[in-house]
Amino acid sequence: MAELSGLQIFKYLPGAKKAEHTNCKECGCPTCMAFAIKLAKHQIDIEKCNYVTDDLKDIFAQHSKQPQKTIEINGVKIGGENVLYRHEKTFINKTALAVIVNLNDKNWKEKFEKIKNFEIHKINENIKIDLIITQNGKLDNCIKYEDLKNLPLVEIIDENFQSTANKLIEIRKKAVLEKDENYSSPTCVYFKHTNDLYSLCAKASYYICKYANMLIFEDFDENLFNALISLRQNIFTDPQKPLQVESKVYEFNNPDENSIIFLTTNFALTFFAVANELESLPVPSYLIVTPADGMSVLTAWSAEKFTAKMVAKTLKNFKLAEKVKTRKIIIPGLLAHMKDELEEEIQNENLDFEIVVGTIDAFSIGDFVKNFKP
Ligand code: SF4
Repeated sequence: MAELSGLQIFKYLPGAKKAEHTNCKECGCPTCMAFAIKLAKHQIDIEKCNYVTDDLKDIFAQHSKQPQKTIEINGVKIGGENVLYRHEKTFINKTALAVIVNLNDKNWKEKFEKIKNFEIHKINENIKIDLIITQNGKLDNCIKYEDLKNLPLVEIIDENFQSTANKLIEIRKKAVLEKDENYSSPTCVYFKHTNDLYSLCAKASYYICKYANMLIFEDFDENLFNALISLRQNIFTDPQKPLQVESKVYEFNNPDENSIIFLTTNFALTFFAVANELESLPVPSYLIVTPADGMSVLTAWSAEKFTAKMVAKTLKNFKLAEKVKTRKIIIPGLLAHMKDELEEEIQNENLDFEIVVGTIDAFSIGDFVKNFKP
């Protein structure tokens, strides 16, 4: 049962029937249609309109029911999903990855330390194993396996791939499509020890895609988790939200006051492409990353998220002029048309930087720098 759209809600409001109170604004919205659209997005309380019928209240409550419960285990949220496919809306909580430490095993301490210290860095994020679950005892900051049993969580012991996959699909479909409360608990798959890590990786990958909310492993292998975390990041990243990095001045190869200065936006892909090149240059450099809602340079420019005024203000805020003697800032070649405007706004902020048009592609930065005089 999908959520109601604004149009479906509107049909029940006075505005659709041209009845008394049409567009009366008492709800704080300019029209009934505006109220309907806000209500569909859960941005306004249905009670704000005194003329909503009981019919609409019932239907709205029915359609707005959360298909899946959200539960929190040691600060890690799982479940709360509303859709079968990410493109329908978005996924809410990524599949948690948990590892068992059995305190009866003679090597448990070594395993525990390895899990605790495991960390990978991906697109501006440091990622660790989400949960350590203990068996036969308790450790600080870990959850006991027995305690998981008290949570509203459906555990599937992975004995057979097809049967586990079928159960996961059935539960998610019943929860999302039928809003069947008997299927509203998050799911978790338990993997017993195996020597076949390839098959474990393949199965776990499938269950991340469809539709496990948590995976519990008796085995811990760094390569396995590297692969699963990369996959999970791809599945659970919301494509509607551009990946962005922090807007600040980044330093490469220990720059000093005479080092060259580049400038770009905070779109993650652009940043990493440029940062890779700057890291491998034989000279130190700065990279000014301007805030642009994670948009690439041309998109940001056309959406007015990269205007000369904004760039000049960012430079002023970063106080770079006080830190360096270099007075040339290299902008992406795609923004060549902004050179004069940028220089004018920079002067308006009482800064004396000169704008130099750089390369269109990040991979040409090396050649550009060879002939560049700061
Ligand atoms: Fe329409 Fe109700 Fe808002 Fe009046 S209070 S504008 S009837 S939605």
